[in-house]
Amino acid sequence: MKLIDSIPRMSTLVKMLKKEGKSIGLVPTMGYLHEGHISMARAAKKHTDVVVLSVFVNPLQFGPNEDYKRYPRDIKHDEELATSGGVDIMFCPSAEEMYPDGYVTHVTVDSLTNLLCGASRPGHFQGVTTVVNKLFNIVKPNVGYFGQKDAQQVAVIRKMVRDLNMDIEIKAMPIIRERDGLAMSSRNVYLSEPERKEALVLHQALEKAAALAKLGERDAKRIVRVAKDLIAQKSLVRIDYISIVDTKDLRDVSVVSEEALIALAAFVGKTRLIDNIIIKA
Ligand code: AMP
Repeated sequence: MKLIDSIPRMSTLVKMLKKEGKSIGLVPTMGYLHEGHISMARAAKKHTDVVVLSVFVNPLQFGPNEDYKRYPRDIKHDEELATSGGVDIMFCPSAEEMYPDGYVTHVTVDSLTNLLCGASRPGHFQGVTTVVNKLFNIVKPNVGYFGQKDAQQVAVIRKMVRDLNMDIEIKAMPIIRERDGLAMSSRNVYLSEPERKEALVLHQALEKAAALAKLGERDAKRIVRVAKDLIAQKSLVRIDYISIVDTKDLRDVSVVSEEALIALAAFVGKTRLIDNIIIKA
């Protein structure tokens, strides 16, 4: 596996690969890799000739009081995991290289980005769409891989790609979980032992909500109530939001008709975690 930290070197390599007619799959990440990331690299390996996994902790997508500075980083560990996952190129530019002095350009997707996580994290999605745009321009992938764990991110990226006529296929990949159900996340490392135990309630609440819908409950408010009540039993968990929304436009639904997304964000101690599940009535 090649490790590349310079944008010009990445661009030169991409030019060569394109000349050879190779297709490129891009898996954008913020590093501290886990099986959730690697599952996407494996999927990319099946469908594209060359797999590029980017590791970049993007300062633009963190709010002023968020965890940018202390976000877990371990490039050696990432290198090992990426190699084992069949990644061909790990692209890890520095923040200075991505945003040199005088950088002023941003990409904004309206509307979709004001809901759910966008409501609690103003500016977050502008940071995401800006960096993903830059990565798309540098790596020129045929396919971009994104995790369904960040369901809103997938919806926002798809919208950006459509609106800006980008010739890139976006693939949403399933959520990978720990054996006990907790969605894998680089941020799980922040959790103390009691927090880690209580964090399980997030997945349990989603499962309970999905089961209710399957049993015939259609009223979104009642389903959300049940999930909220379960989470409220845990003293270390504070709900940011739980919403049942349309899978495409992320608008709240009051009645679950066929398919909907139940998405949540919660603070477990000081750590903000997200999770979601698709419910089918
Ligand atoms: P991150 O490094 O957390 O910014 O995530 C990079 C990409 O990996 C995003 O597309 C995430 O949705 C995806 N991802 C993170 N955790 C998981 C998971 N547990 N299962 C599947 N994909 C994930």
